[in-house]
This record gives sequence, C-alpha cells and structure tokens, in this order.
Amino acid sequence: MTIDLHELALHAIDTAAVELHLADGVRGALHQPERFLAVQVPYQADDGATRVVPGFRVAHSTARGPAKGGTRFHPEVTASEVSGLATLMSVKTAVVDLPLGGGKGGITIDPKQCSAAEIESLTRSYTRAIANSIGPDIDVPAPDVNTGQRHMDWMADEFARVTGRHRPGVVTGKSIAAGGSLGRDTATAAGCRTVVHASAQRLGLAADARVVIQGFGNAGAHLARMLAADGLRVVAVSDSRGGIHDPAGLDVAEVAAAKAAQGSVTAYDAEVVDADDLLALDCEVLVPAALEGAIDAAEAERVRATLIAEAANGPVTDAADRILAERGITVVPDVIASAGGVIVSCFEWQQNQREERWSAQHVAERLERRMCRSLDDLWAVASSRGLDLRTAAMVLGVGRIAAAIEERQGQVPAPRLAS
Ligand code: NAD
Repeated sequence: MTIDLHELALHAIDTAAVELHLADGVRGALHQPERFLAVQVPYQADDGATRVVPGFRVAHSTARGPAKGGTRFHPEVTASEVSGLATLMSVKTAVVDLPLGGGKGGITIDPKQCSAAEIESLTRSYTRAIANSIGPDIDVPAPDVNTGQRHMDWMADEFARVTGRHRPGVVTGKSIAAGGSLGRDTATAAGCRTVVHASAQRLGLAADARVVIQGFGNAGAHLARMLAADGLRVVAVSDSRGGIHDPAGLDVAEVAAAKAAQGSVTAYDAEVVDADDLLALDCEVLVPAALEGAIDAAEAERVRATLIAEAANGPVTDAADRILAERGITVVPDVIASAGGVIVSCFEWQQNQREERWSAQHVAERLERRMCRSLDDLWAVASSRGLDLRTAAMVLGVGRIAAAIEERQGQVPAPRLAS
C-alpha cells in the first residue's frame, strides 16, 4: 500500500490544529515548508558519462532551531514524500523538545544499481547542490534509507571544501573519527527500551513481561538484547525470512550469532512461526521494528499484547489504530518510540558545536532523561485532554512549533498545553 506521506502529515497537523484552536496563519505556516529546494544532481558514471538525477532538500520548520532530518537515496523519492517526511520530522523533534526543527532530503536513484565510486560522486555532487541551504545553524542532514556513516563523512568533507570551513556539525551520523557521537548506533533501540519500561510500569506489567519483536536489524536486534538483559522475556523475533518463538524466552545472544552465521534468525533452534502469526502471539509487549504498515486492520484484531511500542516508522495503519484503541491496547507512537536516533543526532550536533566529546555513559544518561521527560509530557497531554497517545503526540509537537511561530510572528498565542 502506498501512503501519501504529505497528505498524512497535513491531516495530522489539522487534527492537532483543531484541538489547539490554532489561528489560520499558524496552521498555514505549518502546511507548507519554509524552504523547498529541488536540484539537479550530476554525477560521474563508471562508463565515463555524466548522468543527472533529481535531488531535494526540504526544511519544513526552523521555528524551534535548525532543520534536522535524514537524506534518503531511493528510486521512489519524490518532492511530496520528502516534504511529508520533513513535516513529520518537525513534529518528532518538537515532541522530544529538541532545539531543532524538521527537514528531509533525498535523491531519486536506486543505489543498488550504482558502484561505490558512483555513490561517492552522487553524494558529493548533491552536497554541492544544496550547500547554500544546509549548515549547522540552518539545516542539518543525517542518514536515512540507504545512506549511512560513509555518506555523512563525504557530505561533511564536501561541505568543508565548498565553504572553506571545517564545520562537522553540518551533518550527523558521521563516523567517530569524523566527529560522530558515541551511542548513535544503539540510540533508537535505547530510546525504545526506555519507552517499554516506562510504559510497562504505567500499565502495571510484570518485570519479566513477554516481548515480541518484529524485525531484527539495527533497531530490533539491539532492543532485544537490551530488554533481555533487563530481565524481560523476549519470546519471539523475526526478520524478512521468518520468525522464531520460545515461550520460555529466547537466548538473544545466540539468536544474533545464528543470524550472523546463517543470515536469518530462523537458523536458531526454536519453533519457527509465520511472519503474520508472530504479531498474534501471546505476549504483553509487541514491538514492530521492521516495516511501515506492518499491522493492518486484520492484524490488529489478532494482537494479544497489552502494549505496542512503535520502533519502526508508521508500522500501524489508521484502521488498525482505531481497532487497537477499541480493544484497549496502548500504542506508543513512532514519533516518540523511535525518537532515540534523532535525540542522539542532536547530541552529536551539540558536541560538534561546542567542540566537546561526550562519553558513552553521558550520552546514555542524557538520552534516558530526555525520553522519560518526553513520555511524562506526552501522558500529561493525553490524560488532561482525553486523547490517545498518537493524537496527544501530534498535539504536543504541533503545539510547541505553533508557540514558536507565534512568538516570531508576534501573534496572540493559542491556549497553552496542559503540561
Ligand atoms: P534494518 O534494515 O537494520 O532492519 C530491518 C529488519 O526488519 C531486518 O532484520 C529485516 O530482515 C526485517 N524485516 C524486513 N521485512 C520483514 C518482514 N516482512 N517481517 C519481519 N521482519 C522483516 O532497519 P532499522 O534501522 O532497524 O529500522 C527498522 C525500522 O525502524 C524502520 O521503520 C526505520 O525507519 C525505523 N527507525 C530506525 C532508526 C534507526 O536509527 N535505525 C531510527 C528511527 C526509525
């Protein structure tokens, strides 16, 4: 199913705008990006030809600070998708109260068809094309789909060549040697771990609650390891090849070893379960950490968990959301449950700006404090306004951005949030 992310983002903003009684001027400001850049990205192909592909960089809002958001390389990247994702980034940074706005960028290309040299040429060319619109004080790109540390190191290097100034804070997600932060690789999982613990406590779940995790990649595998170490029982995990289940709890280190050796968690010695059936297993906590739209209406009817923590982006469809709410299942939405990554990205940017290096422990403590505070804020808005957590997150995020816009525009503020 193709989701129009721009439409989705605007709809979410409108829902929050009604709840907050926002002035039309503020709602209008939130409906369109502050800056939209469409560029040509010429690159050197291996056959010696110069090819050109489209690229985009969108700063949706800088009302709360420089725009922040990933750069994706994918054949289906469009202006509309990038705009929608930039809008959702503004909300995400605001929900966790970072001094940043929201942005996104991308190149319409299939990187799997490109050599390493072509990817470097593309990344450097893209950086030159958007160099005037990015910077530590303006808009700070990061990795996203099909981009990672190497791309960010190239972007920081190319930016320094173009501007003549070494500003590592122009991008985040860099290698440690190039100014990256300790703890970035496990940040999304660490943030979600705090979400699971804080939410389980509120819901009165047992200390050894059973957890099912869909997806055993960066987010899912680290989270499984962390929760098992905390004493929860990780009873099932899956990857693109299938799932495994042991009601007594999996040995997560052994599962990781089996996947490393044979490419899939299904190589571990346990009952193999179908991908769809995994979501319907008996457990207290379900963590979708793989795909967008993984839980649809039919899946939502079968879920037996008490709590769903969305480590993936957009794993629960609208229809499923309504069914889960009717069934009394608590869903902690992606804007907060997957925000650990952007929080540590912010820490990387702050370290670069202050020319500091924080220890892994300092990063972990700050991340945990930030997540706990954000969850408290979220629950306060949800309970004071009688909203589900997803709507409350939009109200919290949009309310904070709107307050910053109103300050700038000198408008009469809308009623403040309860928290
Ligand atoms: P990843 O590519 O490292 O891992 C994805 C995992 O999902 C892999 O184990 C893959 O085999 C599995 N998978 C794919 N199809 C599946 C299926 N049909 N059933 C079960 N498992 C399947 O990706 P990641 O970085 O862990 O990201 C996962 C999700 O979390 C994405 O939605 C991503 O946008 C979101 N997210 C990640 C980060 C981050 O910092 N890594 C930050 C925010 C959000």
